[in-house]
Amino acid sequence: MNILVINAGSSSLKYQLLNPETQQVLAKGLCERIGIDGKFTYKPEGKEAIKEADVAMPTHNEAIKAVLDALVAPGNGVIGSMKEIDAVGHRVVHGGEKFAKSVLITEEVMAAIEECNPLAPLHNPANIIGIRACQELMPGTPMVAVFDTAFHQTMPAAAYMYALPYEYYEKDKVRRYGFHGTSHKYVTQRAAAMLGKPIEELKLISCHLGNGSSITAVDGGKSVDTTMGFTPLAGVPMGTRSGDLDAGILQYLMNKYGMGIDEMLNVLNKKSGVEGLSCVSSDFRDLEAAAAKGDEKAALAQKKFAYEVKKYVGAYAAAMGGVDAIIFTAGVGENDKAIRSMVCEGLEYMGVKLDAAANDVRGKEAVISAADSKAKVLLIPTNEELMIAIDTAALVK
Ligand code: AMP
Repeated sequence: MNILVINAGSSSLKYQLLNPETQQVLAKGLCERIGIDGKFTYKPEGKEAIKEADVAMPTHNEAIKAVLDALVAPGNGVIGSMKEIDAVGHRVVHGGEKFAKSVLITEEVMAAIEECNPLAPLHNPANIIGIRACQELMPGTPMVAVFDTAFHQTMPAAAYMYALPYEYYEKDKVRRYGFHGTSHKYVTQRAAAMLGKPIEELKLISCHLGNGSSITAVDGGKSVDTTMGFTPLAGVPMGTRSGDLDAGILQYLMNKYGMGIDEMLNVLNKKSGVEGLSCVSSDFRDLEAAAAKGDEKAALAQKKFAYEVKKYVGAYAAAMGGVDAIIFTAGVGENDKAIRSMVCEGLEYMGVKLDAAANDVRGKEAVISAADSKAKVLLIPTNEELMIAIDTAALVK
């Protein structure tokens, strides 16, 4: 079964054609600068990536047409015809409270996704455009929506409610939704497989640490709390996002510098996090290099990040009444052994003991805790595309 996975942004579109049963990726790539000057990247399995500039892509329709043409093209194509695409899985950022799992797309589903637009005004409309373009070019091919928020719909009210006047929840749907759900779902399923235990019996803490970061407590396979909130701005500090902070700071800074709320939010989303704190970079490789040369702010940014992640690990162990395994994933989690080590340091009282030699690894599944560590520490590369393809295949079978 071949599944085309589409992740449509406002001016870009990532795609992957893969077989969820064999996990073979037949081709993948990226359309960029849609509506501007169209850049197209296509990488068939086992061959060099092909890059083209100035490809006419006024809308997402032309971008998807370029993808489909490339997939069937003589020479570098990977399938004989479009009939060999069994279904399309679309990443959709926000499913609100309407979607607790992936769904087959119907007109009713499209209307419900549109109703979630106000909750993710930058992302959901672009996801919808991607779905519409595919529907037009691939009539009759089943389409599935896989939501970033769905996995977290199992959170109890005590975890998802904010202590605000209740009417803001009732009338305006202000609550914690959480994001990175597809990633947390994938790595926790893989963790159960690695540990050889049913997921229903495990208490897991999944640390998705990348440019955006979130930590999730997964008890018995269900998300019971997560650090991102109503928006992805909440939780631990990130590349350029502040994470949690005292809302009173907004009033103080806005009054002092005459900033409007949009300008303030731009600071919190784009100029804060480890970049803001270090004055160096949002990239953890740059922080490491600067810290090694004695840059104190870069070292502080690394420490602050690891400290906040550690605090949530402790909080979520308390929330679940224990932890069987801590999972590290995404760009930083998969590659940065120093951050992993800083997060686990001092957690011995919780039964967490990292093995320094085992931790000296990157980008592949590994147990990185000591043999006598009561709670295991796992490195698991995330694979959101595969998770989307698995969900899609299960729904169209
Ligand atoms: P992601 O958002 O999951 O793609 O993660 C991207 C981030 O991962 C980058 O901004 C880097 O901060 C981090 N990263 C990638 N490779 C490494 C590495 N080798 N060492 C440390 N951090 C890395």
